[in-house]
Parts: sequence; C-alpha cells; structure tokens
Amino acid sequence: MTTKTHSNAEVGNKEDASYLNSLRSSLLDWFRLKQRRLPWRDTRDPYAIWVSEVMLQQTRVAAVSERYVAFLERFPTVFNLAAATEAEVLTLWSGLGYYRRARQLHCAARQIVEHKAGEIPTTAGELLLLPGIGKYTAAAVASIAYSEPIAAIDGNVERVVQRLRGWGSEGASDQPAIARHISAEAQRLLDPAAPGDWNQAMMELGATVCLPRAPRCADCPIVSFCATRGEHVTPKRAPMRSESVAYALVVRSRGKTKQVLLVQRPAEETVMPGMWELPLDTGDHSPAAPMLKLRHAIMQVNYKVEIYSATANGVSVDGKKHRWVDARSAAKLPLTGLARKTLLQSGMLNDDRP
Ligand code: SF4
Repeated sequence: MTTKTHSNAEVGNKEDASYLNSLRSSLLDWFRLKQRRLPWRDTRDPYAIWVSEVMLQQTRVAAVSERYVAFLERFPTVFNLAAATEAEVLTLWSGLGYYRRARQLHCAARQIVEHKAGEIPTTAGELLLLPGIGKYTAAAVASIAYSEPIAAIDGNVERVVQRLRGWGSEGASDQPAIARHISAEAQRLLDPAAPGDWNQAMMELGATVCLPRAPRCADCPIVSFCATRGEHVTPKRAPMRSESVAYALVVRSRGKTKQVLLVQRPAEETVMPGMWELPLDTGDHSPAAPMLKLRHAIMQVNYKVEIYSATANGVSVDGKKHRWVDARSAAKLPLTGLARKTLLQSGMLNDDRP
C-alpha cells in the first residue's frame, strides 16, 4: 500500500481542507476496494438498512449474515413486519439474542405503518423518536439510506477517532472528557459528499483493521494521518463469568411423530421473556451422564451446558407454561438460541424457520 507520510504539523492542523480531503479519500478508496461483501451493503432501502443495523447491535457479523437474509425474505417490507405476530418475529430472530431489539423493531414497524403510512422517517432526528432506535442507529440509517451528513458513532468509530487523534490511552482516567470531544471530531471528519460510505468505512476500519487489542497499523489506509499508530494502551477486557446449567431433553412418541417437551419463559422475565426453551434438569434421572455438552455465551457469561435425556418426571417446569411440541414444528416457535442449538445438535430439528 502506498501512503503519503504526513508530518506531525500536518496531523495537528485539523482545519486544513486538503488534509481532510486526503484523509477522506484514503479511507473511502480503501473501503470501496476492500470492504467485506455483506448482504446489507447492496441496498439503499431504509427498511433493510434499519433491520441490519438493529441486528448488528452487540451481535457478530457472521451471525447476522445468516439471519438477515431469512428475516427479509419472510418480512420483505415494513408492512409485512408490522402485520406479523410477535411470536413470528421472535422465531426469525432466534439465535441473535438480545430479543428486546426484535420486540422494539416490531413495535416501531407497527408505529410506522399506523402513523406514517409505512414511510420510514428520513432524518436521524425523526428516527430517534421510534422505539429501539438510539443515536447510532438513527445516524447510520439516515446517512446510508438518505445521505444525511451525520456521523454514526459506535464503539469502533470512537476507538478509531481516539487513536487517530491520540487523545489519551483507552481506559485513561480522563476518558469521559475525551469522549466529549469524539462526537464533534467524528462529525468534523465525516465526508459530507458520501456520508453513508464514510460511516460504513469508519466502522469497517474499526472492525477489521483498527482492532481493539491488536490494531493492524501496517495495513491501515490512514496510518499516515494517525497520531497513535498503534502506540496505545488498551484496557484489560472484563473477564467473562463461567456458569454451569443443566437442561433436560424429554421426548415422547405419538405414532410416527416425536414430540419434545418445551417450557415458556414467563412474560415478566427480563431476559428472553415469552421464548421457549428446554425444561431445567432436576438431576433425577438415569443415565447420569449427559447426552450432550455445549458451550453457550450470553452477554458476559460463558455457560457450560449439559443436556440430559430425561422423562417428564425428571424435569422442573416450575409453574411455567409448558407443552409437547411436534419436533418438526418446533423451529416455528420463538426458541431461545440455546434451545435451538440443542435441538439441532441432538438431531430433533431441521432449521426450517418460516
Ligand atoms: S494507524 Fe493503527 S491505530 Fe491508527 S487508525 Fe490505523 S489501525 Fe488504528
């Protein structure tokens, strides 16, 4: 990669128009050439972009890529999404986690259809009024779909701006003061001629090159503009907690059909309310060895999961709503990610969500 080296004076001269133009074109040229081909990058449809941005919050790109296409096939427009039941939406969301996002997306779709005749708001200010849309998502949708010149600032972009400017080490005690400058600087750097591409380029750089723990400065298209160039201190990552949990897979035959016992998480649960999962194992079963061992991460917790084959007597439904479900139709229920993974791995389920 050929890069022009900028002097410290140039790096510091943040008002220099040619410096800004040069920085912008370096990043945009790189993005247009090197960006990952992702399904949501081939559209300017505000609805599709909105769905992708909500899915991408706190969720890996690979997981979103899998679910995004199926979600849009089932709900190709905001009208389809608004007309769906919550259970249908959660079913298509299963495996992405953070189900509150799906509920709020659904609720916002209904508001758009009911109050705006299905027209997605065109500005970040209006988008912010919808449930589940924060500043980042509003800016991302407005800039990518409608070219509004507004910076979308997520953790990746914050890190790039901070390193680019050399504003203190990440995790420094003056971090709140630094954070106050980042938003203004991100907005100043934004290319008003291509705000959607610019925002995506900044996010792409943070996600693939300016990595949190080991930035790949030698591959960075804006290394010559960067005050830090990898000389930074990254904060220690908060350790993940480990927990163990045991579930029971209870199966019965009805003629040629196999049925599995599922329980529904209560509506008042803060995590995954209303979703279906396997019953908890009570330990009262034989054989004692688990039929399946899994690992499953949710938020800051790594779960070691053991699945035991059990009879209905060996499980705890704990007053929860429960039912026997034809194993082939279980995919059509809003299953927790772990329940879906367990049923798939135990051969009870094909992932044929509607
Ligand atoms: S040079 Fe290194 S630290 Fe600076 S923006 Fe590029 S990857 Fe990040």
